[in-house]
Amino acid sequence: MTDATDVQAFEDGSAEDRELLGGKGANLAEMVGLGLPVPPGFTVTTEACREYLRTGELADDLWERIEHQVDALEEKMGRTLGDVEAPLLVSVRSGAPASMPGMMDTVLNLGIGSVAEEGLAAETDERFARDAHRRFVEMFGEIVLGIDADALAGVRDEVVADAGVDDASELDADQLADLIGRERDLVRGETGEDLPDDPREQLRAAIAAVFGSWDNDRARNYRRMEGIPDDLGTAVNVQAMVFGNRGQDSATGVAFSRDPSTGEPRPYGDWLRDAQGEDVVAGIRATEDLADLADEMPEIHAQLTDILQRLEEHYRDVQDVEFTVEDGTLWILQTRTGKRSAQAALRIAVDLVDEGVIDEDEAVRRVSPDDIDRLLHPQFDPEVDYEVLTTGLAASPGAASGEVVLTADEAARRGRDGDAVILVRIETSPDDVHGLDAARGVLTARGGLVSHAAIVARSLGKPAVCGADEVTIDLDAKTFQVGDVTVSEGEVISLDGATGEVVVGEVDLVEPRPEERFHLLLRWADERRRLGVRANADTADDAATAREFGAEGIGLCRTEHMFLGDRVPLVRRFVLASDDDERTDALRELESVQEEDFAALLEAMDGLPVTVRLLDAPLHEFLPDTEELVAADATGDLDDEGAALLDAVRTWAEVNPMLGTRAVRLAVLHPELYRMQVRALVKAAERRRGDGGDPHVQIMIPLVINGPETAAAIGWVREAIDEVDGEGVDVSIGAMIETPSAALLAEEIAGEAQFLSFGTNDLTQMTLGFSRDDVAGRVVQPYVDQGLLPVDPFQSVHEDTVGRLVRSAVASGRRGREDVDLGICGEHGGDPDSIRFFHDVGLAYVSCSPFRVPVARLAAAHAALAERDDDR
Ligand code: PEP
Ligand code: MG
Repeated sequence: MTDATDVQAFEDGSAEDRELLGGKGANLAEMVGLGLPVPPGFTVTTEACREYLRTGELADDLWERIEHQVDALEEKMGRTLGDVEAPLLVSVRSGAPASMPGMMDTVLNLGIGSVAEEGLAAETDERFARDAHRRFVEMFGEIVLGIDADALAGVRDEVVADAGVDDASELDADQLADLIGRERDLVRGETGEDLPDDPREQLRAAIAAVFGSWDNDRARNYRRMEGIPDDLGTAVNVQAMVFGNRGQDSATGVAFSRDPSTGEPRPYGDWLRDAQGEDVVAGIRATEDLADLADEMPEIHAQLTDILQRLEEHYRDVQDVEFTVEDGTLWILQTRTGKRSAQAALRIAVDLVDEGVIDEDEAVRRVSPDDIDRLLHPQFDPEVDYEVLTTGLAASPGAASGEVVLTADEAARRGRDGDAVILVRIETSPDDVHGLDAARGVLTARGGLVSHAAIVARSLGKPAVCGADEVTIDLDAKTFQVGDVTVSEGEVISLDGATGEVVVGEVDLVEPRPEERFHLLLRWADERRRLGVRANADTADDAATAREFGAEGIGLCRTEHMFLGDRVPLVRRFVLASDDDERTDALRELESVQEEDFAALLEAMDGLPVTVRLLDAPLHEFLPDTEELVAADATGDLDDEGAALLDAVRTWAEVNPMLGTRAVRLAVLHPELYRMQVRALVKAAERRRGDGGDPHVQIMIPLVINGPETAAAIGWVREAIDEVDGEGVDVSIGAMIETPSAALLAEEIAGEAQFLSFGTNDLTQMTLGFSRDDVAGRVVQPYVDQGLLPVDPFQSVHEDTVGRLVRSAVASGRRGREDVDLGICGEHGGDPDSIRFFHDVGLAYVSCSPFRVPVARLAAAHAALAERDDDR
């Protein structure tokens, strides 16, 4: 390690040195460079921290260099550590390169001991000096010497109780002296040694302790959550103390250059007169609004406002500043980029473009896909308190409150009556769609992010919390349980599908308000992205919503959803038919209802491509529950139709239906099913043309495994088009790449198909061998928690496996057909990280649920901008 870079005075650094000085140190250095009033100090760098973590000690030569800086600081301040005349006190604060608020330790008032206390008392007053002393003993005791915080609090409570006051801030000088004595006794009892009085000894130990706090559990967990590398280390900033609690001309506070909640372009903040920084955080007294500072300390307010503006101009972004006023003098202790709500992020980005501070590229970069997502869905009001009952997977964003119902029928009935209900199920199936549709939200105990409930909820834009495995349901008692809490049908619960939280009772929600700035920012995103964005939409309503959100077509219409509800008896007739005539009759009826569905869909997406996937569902999903039929059979309550249904259910039942007779395989057994759908679709398109519309139809074959099978299916499609004289309609025919086999044989499949669309839900399931419905919730999270998988592969495409298959299939698909159109319509199409990957591999479009379309538009622009930055 080089000597020059392990400790540095603030004036020798700059904001560029963030890796070395940490965020706080780099910004302090920058502010000193700008000539702002920053208490002097120096930074012991991350390099020194890494060395400390490697060796477990603060090396003597480093300490010598630190002492030089201390000497220089003493000279600058005209004060000396531990002096009786003019004592210098310092703060010792952590500050890592990545923001880790509150995760590591800080020691304030360092340098105080019996001598310095006397000196400080002479300058101020006895009570003030003793209060500073007891705060130091408490922090140093806990953080550096490892004394149990509760034990220290216990001593404090005793003294407070003996004095008959409410808290330590009301103790007088004598009582504080008593408290300090007792706290020092506790330290001696616990460690066998006196708390050191020598300030330099205090400093050496405090720097080591703050370095060590990089590795505390809290910091480690936070880094894991935020994806911050473990080897960065933290810097330590040693800075002259200034006191906001030195009387009525002193104060401390936090100020933002713009309102971090609404984004309004005016300073915003909280402050407290005669207080120290931690008092503001601890909420000991009610803080005052920054606007009041203008009345109470007008000069300070004007100076602070000016500094906020200068800092914002300098950093070209909203700043969050900590300040202290000591005896009428303003000091800036910290500045950093202000964290902001989604709404504020949007407003600030657009306003800064208007003000000429940043360009449109930068504005697009500054709004995150999560911000866009949050702006579209109501959420729990962050200002209110609530108690979380349990947490499941955040499966579909948005928040809702409603009465618990435990069956889909009940949800549908009550929902139709206008009641707000939440459907709570172990899991859902296509039988439950009417209930999902009528409920405000859904909670399931099992199932992951691509479980039935999650997909349907996202496509409906409803909140869902899935895989909440603490939930057990007792249908007889009409209750569900979490631990020893029982919630009955009819009781109100609330859930937030962006966080996975479930709460008993009603929680106030805040509503989304997409405004003009939202549309403007997304237009800027559109101008920058290369990926197209389509929607997964099954109905004309979904299609209309998707179009409003900017979808450029439908990338996946799952036609099986059109077979539900009042169509179920027709499907059953087809399955139960005893001969071809009966089967043909049933199909004819289905054909006419499908034609209407398609006509509405094509109208809603007129002029844009509509990708219709032919049926992909095991037929037994359309049959009633086996257990109910068996029970009726056992009690002799089964009529002839019931008996036929039971036979059919048994015939079609499969042990592993996801790998069974679904999708194109079913059509190999019954090609007439696909022919029927194609006829309905092409007739609808003809009608649309006749009405002066502009339909663009893409017919997609699901779950293919190779070229010959794809060729056969495309053959039935062409025959059906001929049957209805559909030559005039713009139709292209493609296949889904959602089996590993199809990915490996993409070349021969593209030889047959005009377009390929990756079905990454099935492709993930089959590549990793993780059932999307069974293990996703239960197994995947522990895998991610234990570092066995880098991400939930159903949420973000698993690049080493599924990603590799996609990449190679793109190349081989293009060998099969040079101009093959390539898209993705699995749930990953709405996931920002996956969108970056799909951009990089060169797909033409992603398709996602309607409410994810704006998110995907922004994420696609981010991918394009990142590529441009990388090329520079
Ligand atoms: C997929 O498998 O990724 C897909 C889009 O199809 P589904 O989710 O309907 O199986
Ligand atoms: Mg699929």
